[in-house]
Amino acid sequence: MGNCLSSTQSDSEEEESPPPATSPPPLTAPDPTPTSSRQPTRGRSLRYYTGKSRSSDVFAMKPLDALRSYATVHHPPHSLPASTLLMSTPHTLAIFDAYPKAKYHFLVLPRYPFPPRSNPESRSSIVKLDHLDSLRTLLLKTSADVREQVIGALADTAQEVEEMIRDEMIKTEGFEWGINIGFHAIPSMKHVHLHVISEDRMSDKLKTKKHYNSFRPDLGFFISLIDVQHWIEDGDDQSIRQHIESLDSAEALLDTPLMCFKCDEPEHNMPSLKKHLEKEYEKEKKTALKRIAERGRQRSSDEDMF
Ligand SMILES: [Zn+2]
Repeated sequence: MGNCLSSTQSDSEEEESPPPATSPPPLTAPDPTPTSSRQPTRGRSLRYYTGKSRSSDVFAMKPLDALRSYATVHHPPHSLPASTLLMSTPHTLAIFDAYPKAKYHFLVLPRYPFPPRSNPESRSSIVKLDHLDSLRTLLLKTSADVREQVIGALADTAQEVEEMIRDEMIKTEGFEWGINIGFHAIPSMKHVHLHVISEDRMSDKLKTKKHYNSFRPDLGFFISLIDVQHWIEDGDDQSIRQHIESLDSAEALLDTPLMCFKCDEPEHNMPSLKKHLEKEYEKEKKTALKRIAERGRQRSSDEDMF
């Protein structure tokens, strides 16, 4: 089903990049309802739209700032094309990663202004815009209450995106596989964002060792949301600062020799790694389909949610 998820953006070596500014009308039109409440979820296609991207005056900006411009739009369903926006809430956006490093790859970001969670319709913001620059600024420059509200909103939306992905996995492949949710230790774009990425890592945009290692869930560059939730639930300002400062040295992890994160098999180069990942996926699929045939389907999300 790779063609469903393919993207036609030009290739890039960037770690992560903003979605296309605009795209031709997708299979389904963007929801025209001017509401700040939840946008369409079930039934919305998670496919990466094919077709040539066009430039847009509205979002003609440096790629580094693209996320911020998305995060600050007033009515996301009006302003962002369906090829970019997956869903929005009064507090968050979920968008398609423009250079997906797996079959499913989305970014979840806080909107600005970010109203109190107890009053989503408020036009005030409980957090300053520059405190949303990164995970570092969010955790170090805001109060415990503010960081909990922002991380909590991101977690809720990530959970919803995960459910949408699981629905799509069942619909298209007949089984569910792993999904990782986390932040990069050193992000390449401004505005804090959470990655929701399927564990297959099968994508033609996955080209370099750096790409691969930046999403390895066991290496330390990809920081799981659950870890960050533990930092802020269990720790004081001092321990949170220590966690954040430990991320500064994460860059070196990207040079780790290629190795399958599922079975630890070393790989000599990206083509052999990608071939190996395909084999891992096929093996997992075969096992899962056999299990389903024998015992019926059990939603993994019922067992291991947040
Ligand atoms: Zn393996």
